[in-house]
Amino acid sequence: MKRIVLLACCLAVAFLAGAQQPLRVIMIGAHPDDCDLDGGGTAILYAKMGHAVKFVSVTNGDAGHHEMGGGTLAKRRFAEAKEAGRRFGVAYDVLPNHDGELVPSLEVRLEIIRKIREWNADIVFAPRPNDYHPDHRYTGVLVQDAAYLVGVPNIASDTPPLKKNPVFVYFHDHFQKPNPFRPDIAVDITSVFDQKVYALDAHESQFYEWLPWIGGYLKDVPADKNERRKWLAGNRPSRITPEIRSALEKWYGPAAANAKYAEAFEICEYGSQPSTAEIKRLFPMLGK
Ligand SMILES: [Zn+2]
Repeated sequence: MKRIVLLACCLAVAFLAGAQQPLRVIMIGAHPDDCDLDGGGTAILYAKMGHAVKFVSVTNGDAGHHEMGGGTLAKRRFAEAKEAGRRFGVAYDVLPNHDGELVPSLEVRLEIIRKIREWNADIVFAPRPNDYHPDHRYTGVLVQDAAYLVGVPNIASDTPPLKKNPVFVYFHDHFQKPNPFRPDIAVDITSVFDQKVYALDAHESQFYEWLPWIGGYLKDVPADKNERRKWLAGNRPSRITPEIRSALEKWYGPAAANAKYAEAFEICEYGSQPSTAEIKRLFPMLGK
């Protein structure tokens, strides 16, 4: 308890000392590892600066395995998500929708509107609606559908609307049609990459079992726990493409040359449209 009080005091002092109000950040993915992979390093940087971050998985992950499924798998994925959240330093919610069966229904749209409102979000992260996986695609659609309605009082009227429309941004992806991802913002996560891998490592059923099985490389996964974490770091490296390198140079100047790992985001044209100053306020880890 004393440690919590001390931490709260330290954070309060930090903000009173001229720093800005803590930001309210919500990242929304389809599965209990999506936010982790696409925004986990950025989330760690926010959390270390005293900002409040929540991950939401719109499905419970109960289909993503070759040897187990249903409620047993959902419970395991939930426990892994909670442990990952602890390692990232974020809150982690998992909604009770079935994995692989997500549709952009009114019911789920209202769930997402409530989540964004309850968190009083300043910024919302989500996938783009172009993706190989229908759950990813529809999560993108659902969050876009919420982008205007979070401010409309008569929609989900049991939860007060947001007074200010958040900024919505997309996670990075590689899909080209109908248009490729545009890295408006790139965050250098080199300093927290090891912590990101440590947090991803909590998703054992995903990174060491299911994804290697469906990808045909299960035999490559080391048995030893330390060795497999090193393997994971090489397997999921947050690579810097030439476009992301340019975005890093825009935000960090010459220091961008030192970046080994990055996460990139595209500003959604729905929701608030941020100025450069507003982007710097919402991404206080950017270099200049
Ligand atoms: Zn996913």
